[in-house]
Amino acid sequence: MSTTIAYAELVELLEKIFLHHGTDKVVASILAENCAMCERDGAYSHGIFRMRGYVDSLGTGWVDGRAIPEVEDIAPSFCRVDASNGFAQVALARARDLAVSKCRQTGVSVLAIRNSHHLSALWPDIEPLAREGLIAISAVNSFACTVPFDGKSPVFGTNPFAFAAPLDGGDPIVFDLATSAMANGDVQIAARKGHALSPDSGVDKDGKPTDDPQAVLDGGALLTFGGHKGSSISMMVELLGAALTGGHFSFEFDWSGHKGAQTPHTGQLIILIDPSRAAGEPFDRRAHTLIAAMQDAGVSRLPGQRRAEIRAQTTQNGIPITAEDLASLRTLAIA
Ligand code: NDP
Repeated sequence: MSTTIAYAELVELLEKIFLHHGTDKVVASILAENCAMCERDGAYSHGIFRMRGYVDSLGTGWVDGRAIPEVEDIAPSFCRVDASNGFAQVALARARDLAVSKCRQTGVSVLAIRNSHHLSALWPDIEPLAREGLIAISAVNSFACTVPFDGKSPVFGTNPFAFAAPLDGGDPIVFDLATSAMANGDVQIAARKGHALSPDSGVDKDGKPTDDPQAVLDGGALLTFGGHKGSSISMMVELLGAALTGGHFSFEFDWSGHKGAQTPHTGQLIILIDPSRAAGEPFDRRAHTLIAAMQDAGVSRLPGQRRAEIRAQTTQNGIPITAEDLASLRTLAIA
């Protein structure tokens, strides 16, 4: 049976869950908003489905729900944050104003977050920055579950990469994608629903191609998207998300002593660019010209458009949720 829940009500319920499982108020509020935004926008691989993972990570002590991030002002265009084994979104919230002000002053800024956990989509981190007129790029590496092209065993994470830019007269342009053939959350959802994966998504524990999501989860691995091309981009995400921030590579941390933990302990890089420094016509107008040309060429769906449409619907009609999921969330808030 399906019902709906208002966004504010969902945020309140998720906040209660985080608080009940040991986070402080700031962390609960940031993560609850983030997770509810994913559910509201139809980004289901990182919506309420992830609450169990957050709770299990917190419960095993793998992530610190009360960590205080430490911001370091390194150079005119560079700031670093030690997330102190807490959540990357909390580190971003703490350093955001500094990174934005550096970008406005110098035209560009880098925010390098380390010692952090990220279990969500990246667009909630960067879309608001594009709404303030900046171009924002983000990379996060995760946990070793993806085989590099031509390799035999997992080294990379599902390693998302996201881009957001202002667009004249419209919502920002945003794309946000895993550099593996699919996000790990979608593999888990397919396994739950008994759906087969598309070919070329993953391999089983013996390295043989499989369309069985459970075989991928039980000792198998994902492949990168687009063969050697996606593999190079995934490698770049490891270098930006870990080597440049001071965080772990996806293959470097050991969470075997924290059974059930699902939050990768790595790093996140955010690059901000102030497009007002560019030559010629304003960037957002140039962006509009490009999008119009794409639409003239027959493109009917832009990245981010599906989310925007779902957001418009759920804002008006509430967020669909099954009675079973709602009951599970209410239980998580007290048990
Ligand atoms: P998808 O393949 O579903 O979508 C990737 C991007 O392409 C989105 O911006 C999407 O827009 C756009 N898109 C999809 N289909 C089309 C189409 N037909 N035409 C035009 N644009 C299209 O995402 P992934 O499965 O690769 O990733 C899902 C999420 O998982 C991401 O948000 C990512 O950040 C997250 N993730 C997080 C990880 C972590 O460790 N924190 C690890 C891996 C992934 P739209 O959104 O509008 O559909």
